[in-house]
Amino acid sequence: MSPWDDDIDATYESRNEPAVLKSIVFLDVDAAEVVASNAPRLRWSFSTTAGERYLGNRCGQCDALQGDWYLHKPEGPFFPLSQTAAKDLTIAWVERELSAIATAVESTWLDWMLSRSE
Ligand SMILES: [Zn+2]
Repeated sequence: MSPWDDDIDATYESRNEPAVLKSIVFLDVDAAEVVASNAPRLRWSFSTTAGERYLGNRCGQCDALQGDWYLHKPEGPFFPLSQTAAKDLTIAWVERELSAIATAVESTWLDWMLSRSE
């Protein structure tokens, strides 16, 4: 299924709260360019497990697709459960509007990162 299928049950939502996007199946061109320049290991990839193409993280050594579940599960690289673990993350802050078809996740660790950047 592509984001352009007529029968997709789309929900349009405008958010003003910080969130982590995962399972990104569509991203507007300008935002995709920002991602490509800041996170070159994130590339459009087809996952047989997910059964769809999404913006997936590729291994820096063997280029294998790393599934979103493993990256976003509790205690995974993008779901630290303590401020100590969150210190391992580096974020490139880019403030702009974007259009995406994705799952938006609000997390306590994102609040920690925001307070760290102030
Ligand atoms: Zn690898």
